[in-house]
Amino acid sequence: MHEWSLALSLVQTLDRWALERGVQIRRVVLSVPSPAQLDVSILTEAFDSLKRESRLEGARLEVKVRSPRYRCRACGYEFGQEEVDPQIRRLVGQYGEEYPLHLIPELLPTFVRCPRCGSHDIEAELSIKVEEVETA
Ligand SMILES: [Zn+2]
Repeated sequence: MHEWSLALSLVQTLDRWALERGVQIRRVVLSVPSPAQLDVSILTEAFDSLKRESRLEGARLEVKVRSPRYRCRACGYEFGQEEVDPQIRRLVGQYGEEYPLHLIPELLPTFVRCPRCGSHDIEAELSIKVEEVETA
């Protein structure tokens, strides 16, 4: 994951948003899916450095890690991370710590199969979301 480019687009987007509304931003809550392998400390450091001289200058970044949900397009089965973890552990066993998903979480559907029908046609909710913005 590219923490600095994520922090940059976050600061730029919210700065523009705050400018249009004439407000300052006090707090930003970000929600990231757990397989995103985002380094929260690097993200926070990037955010704190990039927020200077913007409407986010006094803002605190909070990062919440959420457990993603998956859906099989073939049979409609919906499942959670707990049914994906054993498959990921098998991948780690096969490829070692630098298994493909560690580097490119978007590849997850390629490696994960539906626990019910075995299809690879899996939808994953892996986006990074801004959950809350507190302004002053
Ligand atoms: Zn299925």
